[in-house]
Amino acid sequence: MASTKLAGYEETVICPYNKCHVILKHRFQTHLIKCARSYPEIVLETCPFDVTHRYRKEDLQAHVEECPSRENFDRYVYSVSNGNGPKVPPVEPTPRPKPPPPKNDDDEDWDHYNTPTYDPQKYAMNAKVLRTPGLMTPSERRKFADAERKRLSQIDRRQQ
Ligand SMILES: [Zn+2]
Ligand SMILES: [Zn+2]
Repeated sequence: MASTKLAGYEETVICPYNKCHVILKHRFQTHLIKCARSYPEIVLETCPFDVTHRYRKEDLQAHVEECPSRENFDRYVYSVSNGNGPKVPPVEPTPRPKPPPPKNDDDEDWDHYNTPTYDPQKYAMNAKVLRTPGLMTPSERRKFADAERKRLSQIDRRQQ
């Protein structure tokens, strides 16, 4: 017996897949992945504030409303979207994929594709959004993306 660690020495968590599993907190995430595989019939939703919080669909809403990790998140979003201070979190400027030239040739069909730069831009937006906690609501995310797009197009115009 080499282990001298006492039970309860470290914080433990009860596995949502099987209440008999009492897991050390630092191993919990790994355990969850294993247990999710072992219990494919138990479908649990992941808390948006903490990936180790898993609940049945009908219980998730109740949990989300009183999730202990939610406080940090709310404070963050509040400071970002409050209008106090910078509108967007300080992200390092990422090289933006250069939009293709508006016209390759005189193909009239270009009118039908008047947003050819949309996808790469969207990708860049998403990448930036993900650098924030990545937990904004869809409307907040859209607002953020819009602000970013506006900002980038202004920069673009200034450089031309
Ligand atoms: Zn388990
Ligand atoms: Zn939670």
